[in-house]
Parts: sequence; structure tokens; C-alpha cells
Amino acid sequence: THFGFKNVPESMKENLVGQVFENVATKYDVMNDAMSLGVHRLWKDHFIRTMSPGPGTKLLDVAGGTGDIAMGFLNYCKEIHGDTSAQATLLDINPKMLEVGKNRFAKTPYNHTSQVTFEIGNAENLSSIPSNTFDVYTIAFGIRNCTHIDRVLREAYRTLKPGGRFMCLEFGKVQNPLISSIYNLYSFQIIPVIGQIIAADKDSYQYLVESIRRFPSQDQFAEMIKDAGFTIVGDGWEDLTFGIVALHSGFKL
Ligand code: SAM
Repeated sequence: THFGFKNVPESMKENLVGQVFENVATKYDVMNDAMSLGVHRLWKDHFIRTMSPGPGTKLLDVAGGTGDIAMGFLNYCKEIHGDTSAQATLLDINPKMLEVGKNRFAKTPYNHTSQVTFEIGNAENLSSIPSNTFDVYTIAFGIRNCTHIDRVLREAYRTLKPGGRFMCLEFGKVQNPLISSIYNLYSFQIIPVIGQIIAADKDSYQYLVESIRRFPSQDQFAEMIKDAGFTIVGDGWEDLTFGIVALHSGFKL
């Protein structure tokens, strides 16, 4: 199977993305650690600290996958505020990824409480979610897998309450030429090999690398966030690790 998507019609992209995550679901967490050398945990911790949710916050975590963001959010609320009224809805298009997430939550005190709910859904059309519902909308390493980024942003805007915050963690573009060439070498030569060794699935990881390359630059993405109606503060993003990853944010005012 070829996951480069270069000549793939748009209508097929969703199925192919589905297949990629179907293939990697059970190995997903191990692979994240292996490929990022554990650094994805620091990016996600920073993301939650930037959010700094107050007591009772209602979070919609889209493309939530195995639940790192939802879990980090609930843990933060508990540890910082002693709050057990915060709520996370973990939504993902892929039942297998969601299943891995559910199994993880099953081992925590959040299981069978109203603090966490799971939903299968498409970020581009959150038809099951009423408008003006959530305080925070997050999408971490998920938006680049979607076909229509503008539709995802529109749905984020719709489902947030007025005053609510959109937050996105996604791969960005590295500006520094030296770091950029090392990073390219690592992602094109080494990541697919790690994918082959750990998940026996080089193609899926080849796709992930391609999808990172095709995603808009930080400033282009910030413009798209503004176009969806969000108000951004400053540039609207923060580069993490030389811009390998960027944290974008916008408010529905
Ligand atoms: N947010 C998690 C994290 O940071 O570990 C998971 C990120 S994982 C790289 C991307 C996730 O996006 C997968 O679980 C995949 O199933 C999901 N996804 C892809 N396209 C989607 C869509 N259109 N709507 C909702 N989820 C989608």
C-alpha cells in the first residue's frame, strides 16, 4: 500500500488515514516514545500547562486517539485544583484508537465517572455535538490528517462556548537550516525504519512523515485559524523544539 497520497483522490484520503491508524493503534504509544525520543510527552505537558484549565472546565479533545491530552487535562485539574468536576470528551474517527484510549482510562479513577466520555466522530463534521458547548477544544497531532482543515476549524468554532479557546498541537516548519537538515534526515531516513522495526509497518510511518511535510507553515495555519473567526493573541502560535512542533491557539470572542 502506498500512503504518500500524491495521486490519491480526496475522497479516498479519509479511508487511507483510517487504515494507517488501524494499523498502528496498538503500537501507537510505544511508537510515539520511540520516534520522538520521549519528547512528545514534554510537548503535551507544556500544552496542558499553557491551557491551565480552571475547575469545572469542559474539554472536547478531537482526534484524541489513545487519550494523552484528555488524561493530562484531568490529571492537571485534579493535581492543581483538587478538582473532580472537570470533564473531557475524547472524540476520534477511529474505533481502534478510541478502544486503546478506553482501556487506558479503565485503569484510572476516571473510569465510569462523568469526567470522561468517548465518541466516535469526524473532526470535519461534529454532528453529534451541539453548538456553544465546550470551554476548550483541543486537537493534538490530528488536524494534519484531516482533508479539509477549514471545516475542522469551523466545527471547533461552532462547538466552543463564547469565550472558549481553540488549542492545537501540530508539527510545524523548522526555520533554522542546520536543524532543518538534521530533522529531515531523521524523519525521512530513520522514522520509517523505526516504524518497520517496532510496528512492522513502514508505509504507515512513511505516510506520517509525508503528512508532516505537507501541512501548512505556522503563519499560514494561524491565518486559517483567524479566517475561521478566532481571535488570536500576538502571532497566535508558539514554536516548540525549533518549530518541529507548534502550539496554535485562538479564542472565540
Ligand atoms: N491526540 C492524540 C495524541 O496526541 O496522542 C492522537 C494523535 S494521532 C497522531 C491522530 C489521530 O487522529 C488518530 O487517532 C486518528 O484516528 C485521528 N483522526 C484522523 N482523522 C480524523 C478525523 N477526520 N476526525 C477525527 N479524528 C481523526
